Amino acid sequence: MNQTWNFSAGPAVLPQEVLERARHELLDFDGRGMSVMEISHRSKEFLDILHRCEARLRRLMGIPSNYHVLFAQGGAWTQFAMVPMNLMKRGLAQYIDTGSWAAKAAEEAAKYGKVEIVASSKSDKYANIPALPAGWLNPGADYVHLTTNNTIYGTTWHQIPDTGDVPLVADMSSNILSQPYRIEDFGLIYAGAQKNIGPSGLTIVIVREDLIGDVAAYVPTMMQYRTFAENESMFNTPPTFGIYLADLVFEWLENLGGVAAIHAENVAKAKLLYDFLDQSQAFQAVVDAPHRSLMNVVFRMENEAKEAEFLAKAEAARLYFLKGHRSVGGMRASLYNAMPIEGVAALVNLMKEWE
Ligand SMILES: *Cc1c(COP(=O)(O)O)cnc(C)c1O
Repeated sequence: MNQTWNFSAGPAVLPQEVLERARHELLDFDGRGMSVMEISHRSKEFLDILHRCEARLRRLMGIPSNYHVLFAQGGAWTQFAMVPMNLMKRGLAQYIDTGSWAAKAAEEAAKYGKVEIVASSKSDKYANIPALPAGWLNPGADYVHLTTNNTIYGTTWHQIPDTGDVPLVADMSSNILSQPYRIEDFGLIYAGAQKNIGPSGLTIVIVREDLIGDVAAYVPTMMQYRTFAENESMFNTPPTFGIYLADLVFEWLENLGGVAAIHAENVAKAKLLYDFLDQSQAFQAVVDAPHRSLMNVVFRMENEAKEAEFLAKAEAARLYFLKGHRSVGGMRASLYNAMPIEGVAALVNLMKEWE
């Protein structure tokens, strides 16, 4: 079989080694003659996986002991609601609108309290990260929300804004573990697993312990962070297979040298593609250099017909899922941690050949 390169924005490529290991263990985990999917989440075998998975994530991201790591479900969308349900104590949150995920998070939060949009790049079709106006931070806000990497538009916050004593909440779904972050800069981080961690169905939440407290009486048990924190994410049955795969991905990442090492690789991968785009006549990057994402590279050709032609040629060469998000068109190459630089080189070579 020829090599396949998967540029999907999510669910996305997983490390080959991890898939091979999971395949090997699918019928015989730990010499038991059964798979991880078939054992109790309360068994010692599964608890070992859960504890190892959390310990690896703590090491990889440098998560301090006063933060909880929660294994939830329901994707980022559920966090759009859980964040305000749990954190909007005074009834005011500030959101920064850098794309449709950020806008949807704000819309969802507005069901629970007052939402103030402090800056937006919507009028620029979200092709940049907006400047924050002077004096933007409201010290009376319960939290500030931002999206670290805008998956659809290919933009990233390269400098995390200082929110002082107001907790910063980040949707890190599409760039968690791709670059070092200082966890102390955030009150809460959430990420659906399906971009940089593992299969869809698992959602990671990292939350400072003082932010988990009493919630309004209407909040369902499964929508309270406290429920997860007080029960090792095992109040009900957690997504066991997702946690198992996440543990394998974290192990793979540790063996590579951790987040700093993968970040260096991600920089090299993105540079290869952006450098080509910046000198190309046929292909153009959409986002200006200071705001460019390492994870999602958005680019265009002269017209849609040319793009369709190139996409067909790419598929014939086994380069898949390069079509841009349906809301913006164009093309997008997602270069998550598990995409090797050889895949990016294959794409650049195909573009050169085209040109
Ligand atoms: C993919 C994505 C989402 C949506 O995640 P679900 O898990 O489908 O709810 C939200 N935010 C960002 C930044 C994303 O990349």
